[in-house]
Amino acid sequence: MALLPAGCGQELRAMIIKPKVRGFVCVTAHPTGCARHVQQQIEYVKAKGPVRGGPRNVLVIGASTGYGLASRIVSAFGSGAATLGVFFERPPAEGKPATPGWYNTAALAAAAQREGLFAASLNGDAFSDELKARAIDIIRTDMGPLDLVVYSLAAPRRTDPVDGQTYRSTLKPIGAPFTANNLDTDRKVIAPITLEPATEEEIRGTVKVMGGEDWERWLEQLEAAGLLGEGCLSVAYDYVGPEVTWPVYHYGTIGRAKQHLRETARRLDALLKLKRGAAFISVNKAVVTQASSAIPVVPLYISILFKVMKAAGLHEDCIHQIDRLFRTRLYHGSALVFDDEGRVRMDDWEMRPDIQRQVKEIWPAVTTETIDALTDFAGYQENFLQLFGFGLPGVDYAAEVDPEVPIPGLRT
Ligand code: NAD
Repeated sequence: MALLPAGCGQELRAMIIKPKVRGFVCVTAHPTGCARHVQQQIEYVKAKGPVRGGPRNVLVIGASTGYGLASRIVSAFGSGAATLGVFFERPPAEGKPATPGWYNTAALAAAAQREGLFAASLNGDAFSDELKARAIDIIRTDMGPLDLVVYSLAAPRRTDPVDGQTYRSTLKPIGAPFTANNLDTDRKVIAPITLEPATEEEIRGTVKVMGGEDWERWLEQLEAAGLLGEGCLSVAYDYVGPEVTWPVYHYGTIGRAKQHLRETARRLDALLKLKRGAAFISVNKAVVTQASSAIPVVPLYISILFKVMKAAGLHEDCIHQIDRLFRTRLYHGSALVFDDEGRVRMDDWEMRPDIQRQVKEIWPAVTTETIDALTDFAGYQENFLQLFGFGLPGVDYAAEVDPEVPIPGLRT
């Protein structure tokens, strides 16, 4: 680490930042790499031209990484929207890099500023009423009624403002143990894993954290403040996936939470219908994010899926999914098309019978020795490192970089 010349009485620390992977997380992030990653996503959206009839005033809850970040990018750079992004990220401190969502947001906000787009950000606990009140204040003062609210949180815990208790979410099967092949992405080893079933308390905790309660609280408080505009849409994200993951996902604790999210969507839809708007769930495809890399069995499935979907010319990452969601579904000029459970299906390509048949054929044959031949683990790993700003083309990773990057438009 070296000291850069002091500016305004402040010493800036520059350092070489390398990936430090611990299990399914990387504990470092590269500011320049994250900025490059965000810029690539912005360029992808801009190259497609404006989203006609897109939103003008957007709140994204969970806006700094994954699907929420992509939603904010498409809103701002595809639709020219003013955005407020809410997230929970660790800022840089004492020479330690921030978490990637901090750097992503810094890059997004700087790009928005260059284009004259309003982009305010709030870093804090979205589950708290205090943060909701601060968001409402910003929306009332600087934005006006919203026409899109995206709910894209993935969190390990939530303190319920009503009972003051902290609940934890778990990723476990319900009713019976589940054994399946699991890929240890850090060690590149495939071995069976047995997950014990969740207790009632763990199921309840996961529903409290990842269900729809907080989404509903956001919309109720925005409605009470008169900040849901005419025609306002609100979307939350869900995942279904193939049978091989159902015991841990669809029928597991997280699936129970998503069921609650779907029930909530129906209530919120009734609320927004009064304004000729709508609330609904979009089922998105499996992608590599910080949230999905923590789910047992899923990284192996994603590695196989990537191989099959790339070969079919159907590969998509968060930005491709959300860009397609906006352009072909939400702002397409025609009525939204739902499945029989009232959900928009952006996992349509992933769930195509020909894609799933191939995944199913490959699944039992994959071993530690055949990972590279039968799956796109290299693509998985590349994606994973890029989440933290590593492995981006055109970034000099041998150069020292200042981890202290401010977020323009960050409200305190
Ligand atoms: P992610 O981990 O990339 O993003 C989570 C976001 O939530 C980040 O912006 C983070 O800062 C924010 N956050 C977490 N706790 C917070 C808190 N207390 N207060 C404020 N912000 C907080 O996750 P993701 O994979 O993009 O998931 C987003 C949604 O999409 C989830 O509902 C997930 O189930 C769904 N989904 C994900 C996939 C997938 O494959 N990753 C597929 C389909 C649907």
